[in-house]
Amino acid sequence: MKIDIWTWGTGGPFGRELGPAPNRRRRGHTATSIILSEEGEDYGAGFHFLIDAGAPCIETMVDKEILAPDVLFLTHPHFDHVSDLDRLANSRMRGLMIQRGVRDFERAESLFQPLTVIGTEDCLNHPQDGVRTRFGYLDGLVRWTPILDHDLWYSVQRLDGMLLPSEDVVVDDAFPLEFKALPVRHSKHAPGSCLFIFRFRSDKLRDRPDERGKGSLRSRNVVISGDFKSMEDWVAGNSDLRDPACLILDSNTIKDSGKYHASFEENKTLIDRWCSGDEEVLVLINHLSGFGDYSQGYYDHVPDDEDWENAVDEFLHSSKVTIRIAEDGECYRIK
Ligand SMILES: [Zn+2]
Ligand SMILES: [Zn+2]
Repeated sequence: MKIDIWTWGTGGPFGRELGPAPNRRRRGHTATSIILSEEGEDYGAGFHFLIDAGAPCIETMVDKEILAPDVLFLTHPHFDHVSDLDRLANSRMRGLMIQRGVRDFERAESLFQPLTVIGTEDCLNHPQDGVRTRFGYLDGLVRWTPILDHDLWYSVQRLDGMLLPSEDVVVDDAFPLEFKALPVRHSKHAPGSCLFIFRFRSDKLRDRPDERGKGSLRSRNVVISGDFKSMEDWVAGNSDLRDPACLILDSNTIKDSGKYHASFEENKTLIDRWCSGDEEVLVLINHLSGFGDYSQGYYDHVPDDEDWENAVDEFLHSSKVTIRIAEDGECYRIK
């Protein structure tokens, strides 16, 4: 099984500043895909899971000829993580209509399943700040699917997008992905913010002898932090966060310790804590803004790519860990 991570958008919420000549790369709102496919096959036969839907992820996916996502996960309801949700829901349905030769919208809605959108109860349904307060009109094109419990492995049923605790699911009826959500502290206007841990089942892996001695037939985990300032001890200490195959980490600034986000400087502690084993880990630094580094006087300009690269190079970490600055529209294959 191939596990490909695509980072469609890797920027902060406000992008580059109007007026002064930008010294920085154009970076979109946050959106990340995990695409599973078999060796030797293209993506068409695989599965596509999208985590957050910041613009312009749909246009980039169209350009890269990526099929529509099977499931969307939302880390929190901030605009820079949902700004392409309308486009996603509508483009997906229109794509299905063209592929299957259906011209009538009402018939299409009865034929095609809505897109399953998964988030915590508050992320979706909070009365002031939940995603549905802004995008409730997409009912029918999407199916809002709240996560009821933190720190529990869930599977998604392929037929109807329902969530079931993994231990209760018939494996063949579910997508070959399991996930759990853990709460993080971010902003008071982002209720229900969470990080996601994913793990994957593979038929190919099933035939292999169990190398890890735990009856495990699974790949190593992929962790996507979402936006966060900090997390409770029981969260940061969760054993499923240890030694992931890939860790995608919100690092809104290099040095400035902002109110709502961890800086790269602060994240070094987490990287050391979570990636201390013998396994190789790919860390992708994401959500790069840097404006706080400028406004708080750490740099005399908003950090550009070279500044981010220098900060990563100066960090002495385990040789098993590779840290990269995530790029828009880039694909990273996980071993
Ligand atoms: Zn946010
Ligand atoms: Zn954000």
